Amino acid sequence: MTPPANAARNSNAARDIAHVMHPYTDQRAHAVNGPVVITRGEGVRVWDDQGKEYIEAMAGLWCASLGFSSKRLADVAHQQMLKLPFYHAFTAKSHEPLIDLSEMLIERAPCPMSKVFYANSGSEANDTAVKMIWYYNNAIGRPLKKKLIARHKAYHGITAVAGSLTGLPANHKMFDLPVSDRFIHVSTPHHYHGGLPGESEEDFATRLATELEETILREGPETVAGFFAEPVMGAGGVMVPPATYFAKIQAVLRKYDVLFVADEVICGFGRTGNYWGCQTFDITPDIITCAKALSASFLPISAIIINDKVFQGLADGSATIGTFGHGFTYSGHPVSAAVAMETLKIYDEMNLVEHVRTVGAHMQKALRDRFEGHPLVGEVRGVGMVGAVELVADQATRKNFDPSVKIGPRLAKAGEAEGVILRGLPNDAMAFSPPLIMQIDDIDRMVERAGRALDAVTVQLRRESLT
Ligand code: PMP
Repeated sequence: MTPPANAARNSNAARDIAHVMHPYTDQRAHAVNGPVVITRGEGVRVWDDQGKEYIEAMAGLWCASLGFSSKRLADVAHQQMLKLPFYHAFTAKSHEPLIDLSEMLIERAPCPMSKVFYANSGSEANDTAVKMIWYYNNAIGRPLKKKLIARHKAYHGITAVAGSLTGLPANHKMFDLPVSDRFIHVSTPHHYHGGLPGESEEDFATRLATELEETILREGPETVAGFFAEPVMGAGGVMVPPATYFAKIQAVLRKYDVLFVADEVICGFGRTGNYWGCQTFDITPDIITCAKALSASFLPISAIIINDKVFQGLADGSATIGTFGHGFTYSGHPVSAAVAMETLKIYDEMNLVEHVRTVGAHMQKALRDRFEGHPLVGEVRGVGMVGAVELVADQATRKNFDPSVKIGPRLAKAGEAEGVILRGLPNDAMAFSPPLIMQIDDIDRMVERAGRALDAVTVQLRRESLT
């Protein structure tokens, strides 16, 4: 095998290729191109093992909300490890970080909530929410009410059940998902592609609510249990819902007694300019799943926050069907919980919501100023500190590039050359979800570098007669 381009000067690269299988990575291309090995981080930047500096426009995977250095979080983890490095929460065992963090999350929830359950990742949180809903309906004597509705292009994770909720065709096709016909998908609330010519956002939202109602009636309301939604759809392409969408959707769900699960894995903790995405879009969920920024991603932890209606149903289950037999060894791990608590304190102290509103407004304007009108750009969208620049092969028809053009990998590579870590999503959307600690000058530098990366890709495509 030919050694990778960077192997000679980088033994990490050769060892990586020899031993590591990466998630979401073309393994054959990786054997040729090798990895970018990140060795340290500070603030909103990371450095690779060649000493090259990058601005992290994605906060890793939408998650490193406080950037890549915090002595305070490291100290809290260290202290908790010295005091109690592990305890579990099964069979009524508890510990203080678990109790304190739960209290803090209930206090900060966007609507009255009752209890918090823990897992380690967003996927596990959504799997847990599904199992809670199934158990809930068994517990209260509605064994037929089990179907779950999500949206096309949703991203709810990759475990077999969360991956079934996810609405990305490629993820389904590769792994024969959904796992059963209990998983149903309805239209993506993205006006740019889904709206009819001349249709207002409000009319589009009405049409989507009608589609949801027709879907529930077709399946039988007695069989439909839950609706999962990200307030702003993230990994599917950063889609901000059309005006009035969630009000109309919630009215339908209430009519048929369908639980609303808000997947706040990306939107939670300030990202959209409110503490929760639910507040940005007036959503009153029955269940919230969150992860990522919950611990600023210093350690893995996710939470499932449930309202009292759901909790009472679950609590009745011990008597009717048997005690809730679900939980992870690391549900509410004390070190992760201690770090999460400290993270929430930092958010309070930095006035997170105000900060994101100010810096986010600047980011949205900077993205529009730089990218709207660019010959490859179809739409610039976003809210707060999450955004996307969607590239199109044809602005008039809004058609994306043929997948063979590999726009995403080209952008990522051009970004690396310019010193910015970028990620291409489905629909050729270049995503921005930087650390929430970014200041205005960081945003300007990020947009400047991303702009240069897009210009470089434009030149490449012209040279190859691809545009
Ligand atoms: N839900 C959403 C909205 C996400 O964006 C993600 C991950 N990007 C997940 C769930 C899954 O989280 P994890 O990768 O931690 O399993």
